[in-house]
Amino acid sequence: MSRIGAVVLAAGQGKRMQSKVAKQFLELDGRPLITYALEAFEKSRVDEIILVTGADEITYCEEAIVKAFGFSKVKAVVAGGKERYHSVYEGLKALDGEEKPDYVLIHDGARPLISNAVIERAVEGAVKYQACVAGMPVKDTIKVSDENGFAAGTPDRSRLWQIQTPQAFGYPLIYKAYETIMSQPEYQEKITDDAMVVETVTKHPVKLIEGDYRNIKVTTPEDLTAARAFLSEVHR
Ligand code: C5P
Repeated sequence: MSRIGAVVLAAGQGKRMQSKVAKQFLELDGRPLITYALEAFEKSRVDEIILVTGADEITYCEEAIVKAFGFSKVKAVVAGGKERYHSVYEGLKALDGEEKPDYVLIHDGARPLISNAVIERAVEGAVKYQACVAGMPVKDTIKVSDENGFAAGTPDRSRLWQIQTPQAFGYPLIYKAYETIMSQPEYQEKITDDAMVVETVTKHPVKLIEGDYRNIKVTTPEDLTAARAFLSEVHR
């Protein structure tokens, strides 16, 4: 049986939420938002979870999240870094050791509506392709703007996907790719997801797998309203 690890990210500042509390700790239906993603991974086939958070929030997460909610698969709560990719790297390092996983799922803690079905597809994708990301076809037309705010191009919509998490990989592949990125600053500038790390330094193909339109990242205040509505559907 393969060993599956998960890195759940909660070290962001959440500046776009216009709130003093980082988005992953906001209350959603009476409990901190981060507990939804942790619960989904706790109940899934994942063997161990690393929770990555701000250095000042480690004790809060250990006590008020992991202990209080009984997340027994959380092996460690570790401090993240300035950019998302720094936080991912800290999570990957924390999974290293004698019992390292064969595969790892990397998930934004700010996506509370992650379902077990998507987690399953991500694990299957990692086993089959070594590198896969959840996503959905875009619904809107997407335009590229020029520097003056005029439309400069319209990519073919039928081939555009909006990318979500989990992003799932063979553990040695993603660890090596991150080590390369961390030692070569010229690669770091534009990284917004883990697949880009693999695409940039390994050229290993990354498979797009089916996510879920409900699997939104709670980023701005209106996303909280949408998340609440989706949660009421799930728990109905
Ligand atoms: O900022 P962004 O929306 O890309 O964040 C996606 C996820 O990554 C969030 O769950 C956030 O907490 C996490 N993150 C992190 N460390 C950072 C920035 C973001 O763990 N430095």
